[in-house]
Amino acid sequence: MGRTRIQNATIFTATGAAPFTGDVVVEDNRIVSVEAAARGEAPATDEVIDATGMFCMPGMTEGHAHLSFENVLGAEDLMAPSPETQAFTTARGAKALLEAGFTSAYGASEAKLRLAVAVREEVNAGRLPGPRIRAGGVEISVTGAMGDESREHNPRSSPSTIVDGVEEMRKAVRLHCREGVDNVKLDVSGDPFYPNTPGHTTPMTFEEVKVAVETAHAYRRKVNAHSRSIHGSKSCVRAGVDALLHCEYADEELLDMLTEARDRIFVVPTVGLFAQIMAGEATVHGISPEVGGYMNIPDLLENSIRTHTELRKRGVRHLIGGDYGLAWSPQGTQGRDLKFFVEYYGYTPAEALVCATRNGGLAMGYDGELGTLEAGKLADLILVEGDPIADISVLSGPDKVALVMKDGIIQKISAPLTARQNTPAREAAQ
Ligand SMILES: [Zn+2]
Repeated sequence: MGRTRIQNATIFTATGAAPFTGDVVVEDNRIVSVEAAARGEAPATDEVIDATGMFCMPGMTEGHAHLSFENVLGAEDLMAPSPETQAFTTARGAKALLEAGFTSAYGASEAKLRLAVAVREEVNAGRLPGPRIRAGGVEISVTGAMGDESREHNPRSSPSTIVDGVEEMRKAVRLHCREGVDNVKLDVSGDPFYPNTPGHTTPMTFEEVKVAVETAHAYRRKVNAHSRSIHGSKSCVRAGVDALLHCEYADEELLDMLTEARDRIFVVPTVGLFAQIMAGEATVHGISPEVGGYMNIPDLLENSIRTHTELRKRGVRHLIGGDYGLAWSPQGTQGRDLKFFVEYYGYTPAEALVCATRNGGLAMGYDGELGTLEAGKLADLILVEGDPIADISVLSGPDKVALVMKDGIIQKISAPLTARQNTPAREAAQ
């Protein structure tokens, strides 16, 4: 492969540097250079993409991906469709994310165990479009908690694996590892969608969490925990969970624990769900703000704002995304979280972009080679029409994402940008 020069863009490196005008040069799957606009002709060997007026930034990471979720309103929508149908759904989810500028998906859970694993394999083989995927399996929960759809008079399967005790947990995690899952997901706390165990309760024991983490780490996999309760989140930090999802309720001790663990743990607030419900976006689907009130959403949102604003100040690494793919939040709109991070948690737009890019890249692994625009790093980048620093909402969907490059390969390029490629860029710009 030759060298590609993305020329005359506004470059946001996600390293803390202020945006500047310049060129990014990519060779094979690596960034060769990131430099302020050079004078004169580009080397004749370079393929040139004229990015004048465009914003060049690292590709984003969805930090809590449910690739198989599409139009989901409840557990039935995860259980009823066949795995064959859901494999297509998952492939569509992966494609939608990629086209919206997400070059990585850090998996939470899926409707069936191997959906994200199968799509990850197809994407890695170049047979399907999609981001880099750390595949999630199904949720692992305990009897009577989130995801346990069975009742004494009506025993049935659930979208989750239900375990009780250390040995059942060990078995379930090993099974996930055997089937190729990268990220094991535990339902440690309750949830507002499950009245039997609301968000502030903690049905899963510390021993269960601990054995799950030990087992997954022995297989070199990561563990994500659904945890809204203080007790549950403390269990997770003590047990060595890699990413804490939601984490609304907190006391001083938990905040201190997370601060101490900030170099190894990621926190994913998934605030979009609450914001959308309270804005009435789910009303047509039966969850009005009033219903949200009965579900305790305003209290969860208030605590989310308090906790995550404090974690931001303490330098705990946040990721954007999570719980998209519901009936009112289609795949590919995860970039809306950037605005919520600014509005609710006090991030500047540039800091919110760092959560989406640098933090996401670190969570994905790759030994720190992903998530920033720097010489030597993996070439995952996007070109955006408009300036997200001035208006963060330009990243709310795929429309303004003009180019997506993953691992040095262009995965999406808009028609106007293709047309420009035929014009010597510096001449055109003058
Ligand atoms: Zn989720």
